[in-house]
Amino acid sequence: MFDLVVIGTGFSGVQAAHTAKQAGLSVSVLEARDCVGGKIWSVPLAPGRGFAELGGAWVNDSLQPRVWSYAQKFGLKVVKQCLEGTAIMQPSENERFEFPFGTTPEFTPCKKKNPEFIRDHFQAQSLKNGLLSAEVDKVTLDQYVHSLGALPKFAKMVNMWSQVMHGLESTEESAAWFIDYCRRNKGFLAIRADDSTGGQYLRFQDGAQSITREIARLVEKDNIHVSCPIKAINDYDSHVTIKTRNGMIFSAKKCILSVPSTMYKAFSFSPALPSAVQEVTNNTVLGDYNKAIVCHDKPWWRSEVVEKDHYSLTCFVNDLHGRKWENLPSHERRAAALKQLTKGFKNHPDVFKQIEYFDQIWQHEEFSRGALASIHALGHLTKYALVYGQPVGNIHFVGTEYSSEWKGYMEGALCSGEHGAKQVAGVLQNPTAKI
Ligand SMILES: Cc1cc2nc3c(=O)[nH]c(=O)nc-3n(C[C@H](O)[C@H](O)[C@H](O)COP(=O)(O)OP(=O)(O)OC[C@H]3O[C@@H](n4cnc5c(N)ncnc54)[C@H](O)[C@@H]3O)c2cc1C
Repeated sequence: MFDLVVIGTGFSGVQAAHTAKQAGLSVSVLEARDCVGGKIWSVPLAPGRGFAELGGAWVNDSLQPRVWSYAQKFGLKVVKQCLEGTAIMQPSENERFEFPFGTTPEFTPCKKKNPEFIRDHFQAQSLKNGLLSAEVDKVTLDQYVHSLGALPKFAKMVNMWSQVMHGLESTEESAAWFIDYCRRNKGFLAIRADDSTGGQYLRFQDGAQSITREIARLVEKDNIHVSCPIKAINDYDSHVTIKTRNGMIFSAKKCILSVPSTMYKAFSFSPALPSAVQEVTNNTVLGDYNKAIVCHDKPWWRSEVVEKDHYSLTCFVNDLHGRKWENLPSHERRAAALKQLTKGFKNHPDVFKQIEYFDQIWQHEEFSRGALASIHALGHLTKYALVYGQPVGNIHFVGTEYSSEWKGYMEGALCSGEHGAKQVAGVLQNPTAKI
């Protein structure tokens, strides 16, 4: 019997396995897919041309210490996100605003005050500590910004934030969930920033998946079983057994489940999870968070050409737009992405001269079902704060959604994986200790 079975090899799962091994535990890891990485998937381009990041990509060297220490340990090269140029906002078919990237669009001074007030309000709220009130958890983000006095245009801007940050509409998440997310992630501005102050600063030249592969190497290949989707977890007090779809059974003293909570309902738990845990996890959702990546020979969209091997435009196709786009046949998805780029680049002829095109729909992935972090139903963040993510018997839960820092990011997944494994090691070393 193992000390621990870890289910899933996203960032949180491999980190949990690695931390547990470092604590001296015997570990076995079960992964449904045929490779490690979860929502980090770096697809190699033609030889020497780098990788297309179909999932997570960006990191920060000073704000995300765990991921950065791996980058250094494994000698990974990074590239800075390009920040030059013009931002285009197109709230509807007939409206278009162009403004220098990183600034607020030049609305009239009176109209500029309104979005700046809203932005500053969220930043101030997100720098506070503690749990939000049940009242703020019962209203949607959209209702909340209207109550702040947002003009219709800027309520739409807030909707765009929830679309790009979470893959759903501001009518679909609570104001408390949005603010709590910002609190865990160094504040609203850090989430939105693409420079050294924010989450979208650096990318890995050889793909972020190389980190999961390297951590998996530390866990040792023989301890990791890929193509092993699990279907049932039985907790017998003295130990747990985990059954896979292909009929294998693994026994361990403890189990760490690292799949998103939205997917727990697909498993058979015996005994059943407590009703409060079922209520909260059965009602979390993952956003429609998709990528289309268009690769070109030359960066015709830049004024200055930096010689590199790989130039690409990354498009996010999220929320309601994503929901429609996801269901198109692949050639229509590609055509829609290129059509949108021609609008942005004012019919530039080179838009259609792409050398490769990729897209990825995370909602359609059986073992992901969307991104980034599972989102609570209205009111559930506060109602179930004491049970959400807490161990049940011998089963411990990890994943980026449970992280107290950088929730929704790779850093958050590492943080949660490390925390979960330390919790398990602590209990095994001192069974009478309270968590
Ligand atoms: C399009 C996109 C862009 C993103 N951009 C960024 C970014 O720029 N920066 C950043 O830091 N983060 C980004 N993220 C988020 C980041 O990818 C995630 O936060 C992180 O990878 C989550 O790790 P995890 O371990 O919590 O979950 P997951 O990666 O979802 O891991 C869960 C694992 O469980 C496995 N599994 C599922 N079901 C079963 C089963 N039945 N049996 C066994 N195994 C199972 C899955 O295959 C998977 O390996 C992005 C994500 C997406 C999708």
